[in-house]
Amino acid sequence: MVDPTFDYQFRLILIGDSTVGKSSLLKSFAEGKFAEVSDPTVGVDFFARLVQVRDGCRVKLQLWDTAGQERFRSITKSYYRNSVGAVLAYDICNRESYEHIPEWLVEAKRHIAPHEATLLLVGCKHDLASQGYREVSLHEAQDLADYHGVPFLETSAKTGLNVEEAFTVISQNIYNKVKSGEYRVEDGWDGIKTGYFQRTGLGRPGLMEAQAHHSSCC
Ligand code: GDP
Ligand code: MG
Repeated sequence: MVDPTFDYQFRLILIGDSTVGKSSLLKSFAEGKFAEVSDPTVGVDFFARLVQVRDGCRVKLQLWDTAGQERFRSITKSYYRNSVGAVLAYDICNRESYEHIPEWLVEAKRHIAPHEATLLLVGCKHDLASQGYREVSLHEAQDLADYHGVPFLETSAKTGLNVEEAFTVISQNIYNKVKSGEYRVEDGWDGIKTGYFQRTGLGRPGLMEAQAHHSSCC
């Protein structure tokens, strides 16, 4: 059984053009599955999974998908407002989806404000590059990411390449800002929440496991 306890919950949103591979990336990360044919109209609102950051703290990632809202730039504003960050996704075999990234980036920053958005750029479908379908080079995307100060990875939901790494990187970056005080848990904001361990505190009697856990993190 999955242990439901966690120290923090971070809520993220996945954005980018339709068919770039957002839902597949989420499914690969949360369920370890890949479907060659995926129905864009059928999906869940969000996926959740636990990850561990470097000091051993447990973070529950709540990852919101944006099915059907890509075409009109009409993502419900509360999706942004209640997120601490966004994964900006394009398809390395679809140049247009890459060219839209700066717009998605501006949109995310604007609507996640007043909180500072923690962002990650992902180039999806890396496995298709070897078949000659690549339209965006690794270097130019890296340059764009560097220009905006955003971490970047090419991923494949099909092979699993960098799927784990992508979500680990963004989780660690958010967590670092929590630790430095840049982010605070706020009532009425779902971007960052404290979980069971943080709420119960260190010294609670009978929680040996929690205490042991806490000795190594947070
Ligand atoms: P979304 O609209 O951004 O959510 O895109 P989907 O996740 O629904 O993917 C669109 C199509 O691309 C589907 O047919 C997927 O099977 C395919 N796809 C997604 N990710 C990958 C990948 O990493 N490799 C390959 N080869 N195909 C992918
Ligand atoms: Mg989708």
